[in-house]
Amino acid sequence: MQKQGVLRLISTICCILALWCLNPLSAAEPSNTVLSEPEKEFILHNPVIKLGTGQATAPYLFFNAQNNAQGFDRDYADLIEQQTGFTIEFEVGSWGHVQNKVANGELHGLSNIAQSHINQSSYRYSEPYLSLPSVVVVNRMNHHGIFTIDDIQYKRVGVQQLHQDAELLTAELGDVDIVYFPDAYKMLHALVENDIDAAVIDESLYYLSDEMEIRDFISTAFVLKNHQQLHFAFKPNHQILADIFSKAIAAIGPCKTNDLKRHWFRSFDEHNIEFTHAEKTYLYSKKRFKYCIDPNWFPYEANDNGKHIGMTADILALFQQKLQISFEYLPTKSWVETMDRMKNGECDWITLAMATPQRETFLDFTEPYINVPLVIATSHDTDFIADIGILDGKSIGFIKGYAFIELISRQYPEIDIVAVDDIHQGLYMVEQGELFGFADSHSNISLHLQLHGIGKVKVSGRFDEKFELSMAVPHGDTVLLSILDKLVDSLSSQQHQAILNKYMSVSYQQVIDYRVAYQVIVIFSIVTLLILLWNRRIHSEKQKYRALVAELKEKDHKLQIAYKKLEQVSTIDKLTGIYNRRKIDEALKEELSRSQRSDSVFSIMLLDIDYFKAVNDNYGHHAGDKFLVEFAHLVSTNKRETDFFGRWGGEEFILILPNTLLQQAMHKAERLRQIIERNRFTKVGYQSVSIGVSTYQYGDDTETLMQRADRSLYHAKAEGRNTVMGQAEFDFEVNK
Ligand code: GH3
Ligand code: MG
Ligand code: MG
Repeated sequence: MQKQGVLRLISTICCILALWCLNPLSAAEPSNTVLSEPEKEFILHNPVIKLGTGQATAPYLFFNAQNNAQGFDRDYADLIEQQTGFTIEFEVGSWGHVQNKVANGELHGLSNIAQSHINQSSYRYSEPYLSLPSVVVVNRMNHHGIFTIDDIQYKRVGVQQLHQDAELLTAELGDVDIVYFPDAYKMLHALVENDIDAAVIDESLYYLSDEMEIRDFISTAFVLKNHQQLHFAFKPNHQILADIFSKAIAAIGPCKTNDLKRHWFRSFDEHNIEFTHAEKTYLYSKKRFKYCIDPNWFPYEANDNGKHIGMTADILALFQQKLQISFEYLPTKSWVETMDRMKNGECDWITLAMATPQRETFLDFTEPYINVPLVIATSHDTDFIADIGILDGKSIGFIKGYAFIELISRQYPEIDIVAVDDIHQGLYMVEQGELFGFADSHSNISLHLQLHGIGKVKVSGRFDEKFELSMAVPHGDTVLLSILDKLVDSLSSQQHQAILNKYMSVSYQQVIDYRVAYQVIVIFSIVTLLILLWNRRIHSEKQKYRALVAELKEKDHKLQIAYKKLEQVSTIDKLTGIYNRRKIDEALKEELSRSQRSDSVFSIMLLDIDYFKAVNDNYGHHAGDKFLVEFAHLVSTNKRETDFFGRWGGEEFILILPNTLLQQAMHKAERLRQIIERNRFTKVGYQSVSIGVSTYQYGDDTETLMQRADRSLYHAKAEGRNTVMGQAEFDFEVNK
């Protein structure tokens, strides 16, 4: 819709321009610029104007082998020279370089500048001297069927990094995957190589594609609203120069500019279609074109809530782009209404109609551009119709007003043709047995059968005749007919194919082609047979497999029992690889009896990780496990060889220190606490531990010894954790 508005605007401008350019009096005469006295004075004292440009690209400005400037800007500067008496010289460099030169007075200003491109306040701009629409171009094969802005959504679209209004442009493109390129050459190259799906470029496209010899590999898809407006820009103290240039630009006028544009940019109309003077006048003078379609003939064309969709919609989009004129769709409810409106002169043309002798009395037809295979749908128990002759005397439904009726009745006078209102009625009557068959385009019937789930009807035959469709204009409108003919003719076979592919993949892929269906049935039968044979084999294999599984299960069960027993006698903690509680219990008992026997002392440390629940909560149970493994390893490597280290349970550990007095044990515990505090654990970072220490006292058993260690640990936790406490009863504490 947005595009239509733009095209309409373009068409209006074209009309105005056309009228202006046709008027010989309006042609810009040399030096018709009206200058003020100070302006004349300025020119007298500053006869040479030096302009810089950073855009040393063809066709704007470039240097030939003799180092002479060429291009649109050079030719346009000649026109300004004629208007003002200035001599204009160009200097090309990077934008930064030429801007510096303007700043320090070596250059008067810049050419080829978009207002948004550089800091507005540092320059005084002339009126724009060139306005170029942005075009979306695609690879000639147009694999994605890109014809409108809707088609490029989510596609990879190339844009030049330095595009002067990149923000506006991306806003207009919508949800696309923008790929930036340093220059137009690289971008077009990527398009030819299919690295991107489409590219945005101005009309220099034609010049560049010729220069790169890739014209045959790319094609334009549609025009964007975004126009590049190019200005001359001068230093702030040279407002007078901006004024003189603006006056000259106005005096030069759009006709001369367009001549230059045509020469350097080779714009669309010139690019593709040669129209005669009469055709051009017709196009320019006719303000609006209204067309009508068949509203119910998808995928060829259809009315989707007042919007024209389908193949002809894409084709018309291409035509509008070629002409840069907008067409207006006049929605109708039925084909009969379309024909009526055409007869009443409400539509300028019909997009898709078949030439019949009767119609040719009031319509003229372009060369056909779409072929439609005509098929017949019958009840599902009908045999395949190999010979249309068998339809003699049978009642076959056709949509009212369709050309098929006229053509088939001539070709097959024996067929009993019944006109129905629409496809739905036709297929329904076949289903009910009121008609032997219903004939229409293949895609239309297939799509309808599939979408509406009419199960008792199938496509069972096909007419051999080719039905070719054209655009139709009122009889006698020869100029419009030749314009449309040229447009139809200008469709490249690739464009044609791309449009067909786009829509056939919608309809055909989802429906069953009856020929394909037979092939599918044969293949399906063969595959079924193979599957049956295969199943028998699988059945016997399965028996063997089951026996094997039963045997394995039995073995596994025995293994489990053995494993459990093993676990019971095991001394190693599965997770950490250190001693388990059973082994520690044994070791404690041993140490106790040794102390009782030999009057020696030993100490124990009970270690409990601080805030371990939080570790699990923050990093997950798995990371918690990993920490426990690392922790066990860390303590193991920082204990004496004679010390016993084991996991007491969960995140509590115990270290048995033979022949160790309380103070020594406290000292070691403190050292260990510090080692742990400073260690960075892989997943969970820094963690601390609280340690409770107890030392053997006469009369101790495992329980009393452990109780004291436990109570010390409790105190350590109560003191704020990351703390060592020993022999709780004596309040023995090592300060951190
Ligand atoms: P604090 O000791 O400082 O009072 O706080 P805490 O958060 O460490 O509290 P507590 O010692 O009571 O909690 C022990 C937690 O350790 C509970 C349990 O989720 C976790 N835990 C126990 N065994 C394992 C284990 O094998 N692996 C993991 N990942 N977590 C365990
Ligand atoms: Mg705990
Ligand atoms: Mg804890």
